[in-house]
Amino acid sequence: MNRRELLYGTGLGLVSGIAAHAGVKTSEPSEEKPNPKVLNLPDYQPVSMLHVRETHVEKARYPVIDIHTHISFSSKSSNGVPMVAERRYAATPEELILVMDSSNLRSMVNLTGGYGSGLSETVAKYDKVFPDRFYTFTEPAYARIMEPGYPRIQAELIEQAHRDGARGLKVLKTLGLYLRDNVTTGKLIKIDDPRFDPMWDACGQLNMPVAIHISDPSAFFLPTDRFNERYEELNNHPDWSFYGRDYPSNLELIDARNRMIARHPNTHFVVLHVGNFAENLENVSQAMDRFPNMNVDLAARIGELGRQPRTARAFFEKYQDRIMFGTDATPHVHNYPQQLFGGDLYSIYYRFLETDDEYFDYAPAKVPPQGRWRISGIKLPDDILRKVYNGNAARELRVSI
Ligand SMILES: [Zn+2]
Repeated sequence: MNRRELLYGTGLGLVSGIAAHAGVKTSEPSEEKPNPKVLNLPDYQPVSMLHVRETHVEKARYPVIDIHTHISFSSKSSNGVPMVAERRYAATPEELILVMDSSNLRSMVNLTGGYGSGLSETVAKYDKVFPDRFYTFTEPAYARIMEPGYPRIQAELIEQAHRDGARGLKVLKTLGLYLRDNVTTGKLIKIDDPRFDPMWDACGQLNMPVAIHISDPSAFFLPTDRFNERYEELNNHPDWSFYGRDYPSNLELIDARNRMIARHPNTHFVVLHVGNFAENLENVSQAMDRFPNMNVDLAARIGELGRQPRTARAFFEKYQDRIMFGTDATPHVHNYPQQLFGGDLYSIYYRFLETDDEYFDYAPAKVPPQGRWRISGIKLPDDILRKVYNGNAARELRVSI
């Protein structure tokens, strides 16, 4: 049977005939070859023709604690491992407070406060001068991992950091994806490596929450090819790909994290970026059901949450006491609009949480930077909103609002 017979045989020929009569091109094979223009992907910036409500939420309904920001950084890193205590600073506190006040942002938690003299300097510059506007977390001194007695040294560094004013511990994806037996060479060190057990325990004893980032979006563990939903991002930042080489898979990292959390039930964890698996809230829910000491933040994942708004809202309802507002905001990172500290970024987060607006950008950028899609809001009720904006973080940080 040729194509024409097939069409008539199924009755589709009638439609085809009407279309031809009306001068509409049919899908019949023709001699004229279409000649579509080629457009480079980065040049494609479609403007939505959809007319829907646009709500501008400049100020949050309740004072906000952003549990996940970066104001200070290690002044020297090597292959993803911070190497020195010295800090460099992305912005002055005065500059940050201008934006904070106009966005109803009460406090910024600066996760990357480092350790030793760098930590004390950061606390002195921000937390001490502007109490309750800035809280600083400490970080492990990974560069010392080869020293004999490192597990004890690291636990003591946490105790020292606590005395120096650190409010919690931050663990970057350095652990699991960069740190190796000889710091930057050798075998990758696993997240549940027992050398860190005294560190996790010290945090539990001192009531310092552990903000932990492991793994990355699942697409970063797949080939950067035409099937990858984060193709443009990975193509622009090839070093963000964890596909191949000796990298563990996303699930192996999550399993190691779970083994570690299971061993430390008295330590409170804030598993950043929606439990490191915003694409799979079922997986995150299972972990939260298993570990009552696990909380999550939203940082840099409203793109994921807002493309599954009904599932996300149910997740917020169920875990309303364990979800914290976070953005990953970093001053002056113009190449990463999804993290660029400023009123524009905060108003997008507020719009997502407070309204049921549809189909809007999740980052202040012409092209969505973390995948080409848009999001819808989840319009949380006031009681949940208040917990997410400040209540849950205040409880973990032991501060009153
Ligand atoms: Zn971060």
